[in-house]
Amino acid sequence: MLPFTIEKVTSVDAAIAAASSGRRLTAGGTTLIDLMRDEVEQPQQLVDINALPLSDIRIDRSDLVIGALARMAEVAAHPDVQRLHPLIAESLIEGASPQLRNMASIGGNLLQRVRCPYFRMLDAACNKRNPGSGCAARDGLNAGHAVLGTSDHCVATHPSDVAVALVALDATMRVKGPKGERTFPVEELFRLPGATPHLEHTLLPGELIVEVRVPGGPDSRRARYLKVRDRASYEFALVSAAAALDVADGVIRGARLAVGGVGTRPWRLRAVEAALIGKVPDRQVFQAAARSALEGARPLSGNHYKLELLPRTIVRAFEMTGGIA
Ligand code: SF4
Repeated sequence: MLPFTIEKVTSVDAAIAAASSGRRLTAGGTTLIDLMRDEVEQPQQLVDINALPLSDIRIDRSDLVIGALARMAEVAAHPDVQRLHPLIAESLIEGASPQLRNMASIGGNLLQRVRCPYFRMLDAACNKRNPGSGCAARDGLNAGHAVLGTSDHCVATHPSDVAVALVALDATMRVKGPKGERTFPVEELFRLPGATPHLEHTLLPGELIVEVRVPGGPDSRRARYLKVRDRASYEFALVSAAAALDVADGVIRGARLAVGGVGTRPWRLRAVEAALIGKVPDRQVFQAAARSALEGARPLSGNHYKLELLPRTIVRAFEMTGGIA
């Protein structure tokens, strides 16, 4: 690890000023410090933002509001989260070990960097770490990589589990920067890799995530997060699905679905949702709808299995919501 300095700030404005001057903000540090140890990231000046007043978890009208510095463990254990949005609690518990959940913040979780092994190997070609150098994963070990949203320049999956749940639930985020505040869907935080995979999110220079807001809805309590992975103790998703159903009088009135482990960003599947509306929920209906999940999928040499695993995971996740007639 290379030498660096660290200072603390206690106000959002001071954090914005620090970020605007090129210093790196850190909260839990669970990704950044790791990457600094491997010298993948080499910031010389860090700014500790843990003292900012952004840790609240509260209900505002029917919305759940989560401060950007709330820890994953706090959010998962919060009674309002468990009562109103069990999908979020489930995705957080599935998303990291207890030690990491105690340290990692919600904002940091959304901004975590990819887990592609080549990204961390300094001698491997990686357009994300070293733009223009190539992508070792395309013809290398790519069983865990994406089949949706890929480009010739990068095929890494987005690693966050809670991001998948938040995208499914139409969550928004409020950010603050040198030019003021703005609010936008969490889904719009994540860029597709295209020809510039080193640009991962849509935050402007100096912007800081302040909070995430999750709207309440009739389907928010009938929702489940299913994560398929190589080992149950702790691992990133091969495929995951955040599924929610609103069923009234035996008919699906509303459906939400986002998937992880298969896309270069959390992947909302609106075509699958639309195919479910007005149907009586059963396995055949879920299977028929899940077929459209593969539209545009481009498998690599090592991850064809995801084309089979993705629809199966979607069907199982909808069955777990209890939406079977
Ligand atoms: Fe780098 Fe992306 Fe290729 Fe992995 S998939 S080696 S992160 S460019």
